[in-house]
Amino acid sequence: METPATILVVDDSPENLQVISAVLKEHYKVKVAINGERALALATAADPPDLILLDVMMPGMDGYEVCSRLKAQPATARIPVLFVSSRDEEEDEARGLSMGAIDYIVKPIRPSIVQARVRNHIELKRSRDLLERLTTQDHLTGISNRRRFDDFLAVEWRRAAREQTPISLISIDIDHFKAYNDHYGHPQGDQCLIQVARALAASVTRPTDLVARCGGEEFAAVLPATGSAGATLLAEQMRAGVLAQGLEHAHSATHSHVTISLGVATLVPQADESPQALVDLADAALYEAKSAGRNRFVARQR
Ligand code: GH3
Ligand code: MG
Ligand code: MG
Repeated sequence: METPATILVVDDSPENLQVISAVLKEHYKVKVAINGERALALATAADPPDLILLDVMMPGMDGYEVCSRLKAQPATARIPVLFVSSRDEEEDEARGLSMGAIDYIVKPIRPSIVQARVRNHIELKRSRDLLERLTTQDHLTGISNRRRFDDFLAVEWRRAAREQTPISLISIDIDHFKAYNDHYGHPQGDQCLIQVARALAASVTRPTDLVARCGGEEFAAVLPATGSAGATLLAEQMRAGVLAQGLEHAHSATHSHVTISLGVATLVPQADESPQALVDLADAALYEAKSAGRNRFVARQR
């Protein structure tokens, strides 16, 4: 069975929180917040809500303010917000919807209507989440896919160009993977890819970094605002992390276990330069790491 969706109910009146929770708790995991600050804290927590029912009139930070702050942060911008208000003026409703709220419910609430609207919006949210996963996640390993990598690199490249900060890219390729597939079979090759992806993802601890499977047995990591020293440190952790998985590779020409080679590139983008410059630098470094015997990284910076 599907895990129940989480709904955050925000209202300055404990009675209202009680009433709305009672309507929803049979089908959903309900969290409550008694003011705007608490709502924002819960919305950015590790387990964010799938939907927010937001009271408009609250002392201190009102519902409009909470909504605009939610919409301003990428981490919370896509959580659907339903305003719940005792004011049913056209103007209020229009204001709420124009701020990006998905719906507007008038108090006193009618339980069956609230249940139906929430159900519809949760269904839409689930479809959007699924679409998002399908378009950005690699289906075999679960890490980011090539498309997400390209988008992410483009955004971070522009940021680095604007702020004139270094950006690093690590190109990663499994050593002698054709021989692995030939001898252990394609299904086990796939298992190996999953394990390698896991080791790479575990090496990356900054939430601003991205690890992706770019295709076949090739992976990459984008490290915004990271110089050569930081990037090489991470590359070495990745190399050691994959080796530490202890995946036997009896037919590798260079090692008894599965290893990776890495090309580390670091640069500060110049005007009119495209991210391809960084990709080319990383690929050249990777090629050198392969030629020098594999199971190693080579770093280049400019
Ligand atoms: P090198 O050390 O120079 O990188 O040699 P290599 O054998 O790893 O490189 P090559 O590019 O010649 O071979 C890549 C192999 O990766 C070819 C194919 O058998 C395998 N491969 C690519 N995609 C997949 C996949 O999705 N699943 C599996 N199981 N194997 C794949
Ligand atoms: Mg390859
Ligand atoms: Mg390879």
